[in-house]
Amino acid sequence: MSYVRGLKCRECGQAYPEKGVHVCETCFGPLEVQYDYAAMRGKVTRESISAGPRNLWRYRDLLPINGTPRSGLHSGMTPLKRARNLEKVLGVRELYIKDDSANYPTWSYKERVVSVAITKAIELGYDTVGCASTGNLANSVAAHAAEAGLRAFVMIPHDLEQGKVLGSLIFNPTMVRIEGNYDDVNRLCSEIADKYRWAIVNVNLRPFYTEGAKTFGFEIAEQMGWKLPKHTVCPTAGGTILPKIYKGYREFIHLGLVEDNQPRIYSAQAAGCNPVVEAIQAGRDLIKPQKPKTIAKSIAIGNPADGFYVVQAVKESGGWGADATDAEIVDAIKLLARTEGTWTEPAGGTTLAATIKLIESGRIPRDESICVCITGNGLKTVEVVVDQLEPPASIPPSLDAFDRLMSGRATTETLPVAV
Ligand SMILES: *Cc1c(COP(=O)(O)O)cnc(C)c1O
Ligand SMILES: [Zn+2]
Repeated sequence: MSYVRGLKCRECGQAYPEKGVHVCETCFGPLEVQYDYAAMRGKVTRESISAGPRNLWRYRDLLPINGTPRSGLHSGMTPLKRARNLEKVLGVRELYIKDDSANYPTWSYKERVVSVAITKAIELGYDTVGCASTGNLANSVAAHAAEAGLRAFVMIPHDLEQGKVLGSLIFNPTMVRIEGNYDDVNRLCSEIADKYRWAIVNVNLRPFYTEGAKTFGFEIAEQMGWKLPKHTVCPTAGGTILPKIYKGYREFIHLGLVEDNQPRIYSAQAAGCNPVVEAIQAGRDLIKPQKPKTIAKSIAIGNPADGFYVVQAVKESGGWGADATDAEIVDAIKLLARTEGTWTEPAGGTTLAATIKLIESGRIPRDESICVCITGNGLKTVEVVVDQLEPPASIPPSLDAFDRLMSGRATTETLPVAV
């Protein structure tokens, strides 16, 4: 049973069948999956969803597949944590962390988009998948392709963190480092998608891929007890996740699964790559491309494909945007770890740092519910904290030495922290 009714151009409305196409032939607008929401009424309910599997496929009625899920059978349903310690530090009443640093199998939000794209690639008869990636997407495509028995080609910028590079290589894809930034990688992948019959998940399978990101929003709503947070702060890279969380909220409202509390959504970017936040703050719809320069490499996209739709979702919801310097990003990573026991990568540090700015500037009121979207895991980006943490003391194995350390008399010899 599928409620999908094909693809449609977001700009001119032209209809397309479900296949590996992503731009309109007439106006070059992006294509989006269409659903028959009227047919879902009374069938897609809180009960039907609750009875589903404990993974992201519990929302399959709202995802663009026709057969059975072929990938991601253990992905999604990540923790939504009430962040009581952080509430105290920030002086807010109700704060949640939606934690995709714990998303199986490669520890980022990308499992969501990849689970849908790989299932769709198999449905459409592809035997090879690929992606243009800032690291996490490559990890996820490589892992899901290995499990599904597909060939994988993953393309990344040449200067990524070691954890991101090894985090793909271990799954044995063909990996190519491109001597350029992400925008160069993406352009090359568009040309590859035109020439080879491959499913490039975020290029020609993009309409299906992006729908997977809705599950991040669905889970927030369900895990809050079928309620929406009033304020959701979300990182922006290519611009997939933010509009799709918002779309997920709107779909749940439309189906009567949650009350419409007029949820607001906010974009977080690094100051060294903030084309979307810059446009939001300047009150412009169009994005001015930038050359990224930030430690937040997973969200360093200077010319975001769906940046325009991020601005639209933020504006429509009454949200805003905030950016964070590299130093603020590292501070926020450390703050989240020591208050809530969650180690995120710079994308998550960016989101928390932006949340703090939005609270302090009064854009987000202190007495309303706030959800911070944590999208990636800190173990992949040890480089950004290795020089920022106090190295442990090193002592001989004697109680005497330990006592001296406790009384503060020991000279603490520093251990080199190897990367
Ligand atoms: C890909 C990614 C994002 C967001 O990317 P979008 O293209 O805007 O969806 C955010 N955080 C992390 C860790 C990512 O890997
Ligand atoms: Zn069109």
